[in-house]
Amino acid sequence: MRYTDIAIIGGGLSGSTAAAMLGRAGISVVLIDPHETYPADFRVEKLSGEVQVERFLKTGIAESVLRRATYSGENWIARFGRLLDKAPSRQFNILYDSLVNAIRDEIPASVWRICAKAIAVETSAERQRITLSNDETISARLVVLANGLNVGLRHQLGIARKIVSACHSISIGFDVVPAGRNAFDFPALTYFSERPSDRIPYITLFPVGTRMRANLFVYRGFDDPWLRELRRVPAETLHAALPRLERITGPFDIPGELKIRPVDLYVNDASGQPGLVLVGDAFSTSCPVAGTGCDKVFTDVERLCNVYIPRWLASDGMDAAKVATFYADPVKRACDEWSAAKAFDFRSVSTATSPYWTAQRWARFIAWSVQGLLRPLGGAFDLEPNFLGHSSSSSSSSSSSRSSSSSSSSLSSSA
Ligand SMILES: Cc1cc2nc3c(=O)[nH]c(=O)nc-3n(C[C@H](O)[C@H](O)[C@H](O)COP(=O)(O)OP(=O)(O)OC[C@H]3O[C@@H](n4cnc5c(N)ncnc54)[C@H](O)[C@@H]3O)c2cc1C
Repeated sequence: MRYTDIAIIGGGLSGSTAAAMLGRAGISVVLIDPHETYPADFRVEKLSGEVQVERFLKTGIAESVLRRATYSGENWIARFGRLLDKAPSRQFNILYDSLVNAIRDEIPASVWRICAKAIAVETSAERQRITLSNDETISARLVVLANGLNVGLRHQLGIARKIVSACHSISIGFDVVPAGRNAFDFPALTYFSERPSDRIPYITLFPVGTRMRANLFVYRGFDDPWLRELRRVPAETLHAALPRLERITGPFDIPGELKIRPVDLYVNDASGQPGLVLVGDAFSTSCPVAGTGCDKVFTDVERLCNVYIPRWLASDGMDAAKVATFYADPVKRACDEWSAAKAFDFRSVSTATSPYWTAQRWARFIAWSVQGLLRPLGGAFDLEPNFLGHSSSSSSSSSSSRSSSSSSSSLSSSA
């Protein structure tokens, strides 16, 4: 039996960030994950907007991680085949495995890393017992459950799941290459849907190293024949859905594999359990269209590691009342509520045909157009952060660098 104060189950974005923060704070931590190196996986591929980046910076480990990303200082906004704005942006583009592995590099050597699966957890108000797939057993004062979408331990622990919206949206990730020329003209691009009936909120294109990635989002059932067509003939299906996109991008091909991921919105309730706290997707999911998943992860982990764990370890026991203070944290609750509301607002503004949502759609279109017209005159205003989903603008008055492959300059000026 190994003894520790904190056992973190899951070394994805949440668990690895928590391990780095707690290890740096000198707290005794064990991190359990089956993968020595985080494998390729389709999740968030860019951190964007002032708010999200500031949340990451609060964890204290962001600077060196973001330096490994490809920075986009400007994002073009377009709809109906028209360029509406060249908005300053603060986008750090990085594939998920690179992001998580960069965070893992920030975990100090004092953190005990075990390459195994947790297969059983027994909780109590004093110590928690974790059984691993390699037959080891861990005894911890607190278990941080950061196992993402995995369901095995939830069943074993009797944690109740509330499905808020099944298959709320589908995210599709792929590479694009310009046809007949060497490069695209835009540094990064967000192209909004042309018609509500397309059920496409937007597509976003952004550079990751030498690749141009595309994240396309749709509101469809997972068995929709449109998705089969997209897999079969991706470029043709995309052009049929967004016929004027090529006016902005120029001709392009889709050379490789498409990753298609449906997302359910759910909340897991472990509030009655002593000795166990849920963070990130293990607590609740977010809609990728709204781009708030990382806000939730960083908020959960920052509040837990900076505020609650040091407080809880300072007194005996780990009863459910102690752990409940984390779920009641006003900053966490505000972030969770904002994320949930945005998931539904985005879907309505993209697909609803009522007079209210039609007016909302046009109001956004006009706001982007006016912002784009005023920008060269130096009088552009700031749209609400994250108004544009993945492409929220930063300070309107700052002159943007178009796009650069290194993120260090943007960091040193902002951190
Ligand atoms: C397709 C897609 C696109 C997204 N796009 C965006 C976006 O644009 N912007 C945004 O902000 N958010 C986005 N998100 C959300 C964001 O990616 C997630 O919120 C975030 O990755 C969750 O991290 P996590 O650490 O909670 O879970 P994960 O990264 O899934 O980590 C879970 C870890 O637990 C480990 N594990 C599982 N079971 C066990 C076990 N029994 N024992 C030990 N370890 C275990 C796994 O190996 C894994 O390492 C997107 C999500 C998806 C699915």
